[in-house]
Amino acid sequence: MSRPAFASWLSQTNDVTQTFLNAGQIPDLINLAGGLPDPSIWPVEELAQLAHKAVAEHPEAVLAYPPIEGFAELRHLIAQRFSTGGLTLTRQNVLITTAGMQGLDLVGKALLDQGGLIAAQSPAYLGALDAWRPRLPSYRPIRLQDEGFDPVAALDGAQFCYCVPNFSNPTGRLVDLPMRQAMVEAAQQTGTWLVEDDPYGMLYYDGAPLPRLLELSATGKPGPYDGPVIYLGTLSKGLAPGLRLGWVIAAPEMITALITAKQGSDMCTTGISQQMAIDAFKTGLPERILPHILDLYGSRRNALCAAMAEHLTPWFDWQVPQGGMFVWARAKDPALDTDKLLKVALSHGVCVTPSSVFDPEGQDRGAIRVNFTLNPAERLAEGTRRLARAVDALLSG
Ligand code: PMP
Repeated sequence: MSRPAFASWLSQTNDVTQTFLNAGQIPDLINLAGGLPDPSIWPVEELAQLAHKAVAEHPEAVLAYPPIEGFAELRHLIAQRFSTGGLTLTRQNVLITTAGMQGLDLVGKALLDQGGLIAAQSPAYLGALDAWRPRLPSYRPIRLQDEGFDPVAALDGAQFCYCVPNFSNPTGRLVDLPMRQAMVEAAQQTGTWLVEDDPYGMLYYDGAPLPRLLELSATGKPGPYDGPVIYLGTLSKGLAPGLRLGWVIAAPEMITALITAKQGSDMCTTGISQQMAIDAFKTGLPERILPHILDLYGSRRNALCAAMAEHLTPWFDWQVPQGGMFVWARAKDPALDTDKLLKVALSHGVCVTPSSVFDPEGQDRGAIRVNFTLNPAERLAEGTRRLARAVDALLSG
């Protein structure tokens, strides 16, 4: 007897994923493909103490099932940290999630009908596309930097709009202040939920941080925030991804809907990570380690861009990102297929992410995403040299 087929959305995944899974076997591979932090930034001793303290001092809270919405103290601390200027948040505005990925998943569960329309910044984060794929959504790609881009037309009729204003994954680009304001106004005017996914908001290497969409949508009214922005935060890039600790900040009615979605998902986020986050925030741990992270990643960004300028200029165009983890490079020659380049690059001992995985239709085969946070400067330079040899081999072969 044959088994029932897998759900149909599974056949929509990109075969690049399989190529990556096989890449693990390649010796001395330089991985410029992932979005991984450098393990040296993790404050291992402090985190070990916080983990021990969480279990030893709060066993009844952290070893039980925490409330679905998260510990009240943590929600309160996050509400306080993000209340700025005219923005007043209370813990009714905060849901604790199992990192940013769960925020994306719950937003899809709460807002997206089968086949629903998402207006998404294009190209879009692969994890978000993966989270929403089971609903087989359709996408309206939005390109905020395009001449004549009209935010109202972009948002109108979509079930929500997805945006990464700070150093998008994959492009590393920053949405400028006038466009942030225009997006918020369009969300208010059209009544569209605006999902602000912000894992990289602390990683500014140049210039001062721009205000979040969340802040820009504040009305200055007293009482909990009630605007259109659904803000997704995480400790993954500024502390450690293994904590799997994130949060959603949104209007109370949205938080209530997301709590219902979370109940049917993982029921609660582990109390050990929540208690560790409470103590980390109270002792200013993220702020203490941030200068080192910015120094390390900022210098690696410079090293990668210098190596790319030396070795990849004949083939690619890119902008030096002001922050985040990635450089997005577009091939000058439209015939350069970056899905094919990945295979050749692997045989040259280097790995980058091709643009097709960030396109809901899988059509864009003209760009690559290059990560600079995981490898030291000399490996970034060697990886870039290997990539140049791979491009040469692909185009001449
Ligand atoms: N959104 C974006 C844009 C990301 O790049 C990532 C991490 N790569 C996430 C969300 C989710 O990260 P996490 O689940 O570790 O918080």
